[in-house]
Amino acid sequence: SSFFQIDLGSDLELNIQRCGYKKPTPVQKHAIPVIMAGRDLMACAQTGSGKTAAFCLPIIAGILKGPNGFSETRGPRGAGSRAASPVALIICPTRELAGQIHDEVKKFANRTRVRVAVAYGGVPIFQQLRSLQGGVDILVATPGRLVDLIDRAKVSLQNVKYLTLDEADRMLDMGFEPQIRRIIEENYMPPSSVRQTMLFSATFPSEIQRLAADFLSNYVYLTV
Ligand code: AMP
Repeated sequence: SSFFQIDLGSDLELNIQRCGYKKPTPVQKHAIPVIMAGRDLMACAQTGSGKTAAFCLPIIAGILKGPNGFSETRGPRGAGSRAASPVALIICPTRELAGQIHDEVKKFANRTRVRVAVAYGGVPIFQQLRSLQGGVDILVATPGRLVDLIDRAKVSLQNVKYLTLDEADRMLDMGFEPQIRRIIEENYMPPSSVRQTMLFSATFPSEIQRLAADFLSNYVYLTV
């Protein structure tokens, strides 16, 4: 019955319909069942392939199927000093891409209890801090601004269950490897055996394979 022939839940199915998606793209067809099964994934996919929905839909479905709300992130109104603790973290190279991913996640999370926020550099941090205050389930962020938010204790990664690295090759080209390693390796978030990690990249040079070996656990390799 389902569009993706996998049960994403009725709220999500309705939002997919509202987006006008009639059939899954190849990366969606192959990646969604792998992610829904809880496996780590390293996927070769270009911009325009539909990769954003490929990782966003299973994450939203997983959050909606999980416990009804994450009480530790739902502070009282005005609890501005409390760090936001997203369940899903999507790291990408640029503010433009972060904005696009944020828009797509918002469309799919529309009319659900899933809360989404975005954080990128090059703009004042104030508004982003405000959007984090109400609690966040899915955070889309660029590496530099994310490190800043962690250092300010405005974001905690201790509840991250889903980690996505999007356009990983571009992030390395832009020199973000130290920030990415710091975010993932310095005990800010649960280890790879506990979280689920998805790595998307257009190319697979040895540096990307090294990232996958370091951050993923028993992963499925997909190239479309
Ligand atoms: P992406 O590769 O994730 O940047 O997606 C490229 C474009 O394709 C975006 O505008 C998406 O909204 C659109 N798109 C993604 N999946 C589908 C689908 N299954 N059917 C129609 N459009 C889609």
